Amino acid sequence: MENKKELKNWLDNFQLKHPLVIAGPCSAETEAQVLNIAHQLKHTDATILRAGIWKPRTRPGNFEGVGALGLKWLQKAKAETGMLTATEVANANHVSLALEHDVDVLWIGARTTVSPFVVQEIANALKGTNKIVLVKNPVNPDLSLWLGAVERLHTANIKNIGVIHRGFSTYEKTYYRNNPEWQLPIELQNRFPDLPLILDPSHIAGRRDIISELCQTGLDLNYDGLMIETHMDPENAWSDAEQQITPDTLIKIMASLQVRNETG
Ligand code: PEP
Ligand code: MN
Repeated sequence: MENKKELKNWLDNFQLKHPLVIAGPCSAETEAQVLNIAHQLKHTDATILRAGIWKPRTRPGNFEGVGALGLKWLQKAKAETGMLTATEVANANHVSLALEHDVDVLWIGARTTVSPFVVQEIANALKGTNKIVLVKNPVNPDLSLWLGAVERLHTANIKNIGVIHRGFSTYEKTYYRNNPEWQLPIELQNRFPDLPLILDPSHIAGRRDIISELCQTGLDLNYDGLMIETHMDPENAWSDAEQQITPDTLIKIMASLQVRNETG
């Protein structure tokens, strides 16, 4: 990839703070839930509201998201709070619907990054867009798949690309839900030094109590941002209940973090 330098400019172009904080529920559940959390997040460091509306669940029988209906809720949340909005897209149809509803940030999830044909279809549907497009690492610790997805977006002339580190699945469950394997994103950054790197401590942790320490590690490693799952009533969330935190906890965590001065 040439012109690596241009990649990081979008953080400035969108006037996003350092570190960039993306927060919101794992899943959009109801209109009231989305609007409520958006209004609460206005009082935090978060500038981008995340909410999954198409949820790729590993096994059937779980809540798979409210679908396109949730796009209207995100639009309303943006109109009422001024926050930018972010959602996961897992196919070209999701991309068209998200673009029609003016979602600002589209992210490719870990279960999609593993699939080059799907990533290519998403890249084609996004061709030339000025929206921010973030690529989560693949579920497995394969740097080439992650790089390949970034390259497909770059080749489709998508300018505002970033990556999200959400950890890597392992057969044996350990301290983490998904092992961080910190060396992989570092290697990705070595290849593309100007690609903004965002940490998703929520999916690495799989639990609330270590979100804070993971955020600090990310900032110590000079990550550009954090994506943190946040819910008004985490214990009763419709997905990823164990790892979500309240907006109040988000405020406390952000206040406790040591942020490096340089903007990367
Ligand atoms: C999510 O962000 O809620 C999600 C499904 O993440 P991942 O693709 O990292 O599993
Ligand atoms: Mn989740």
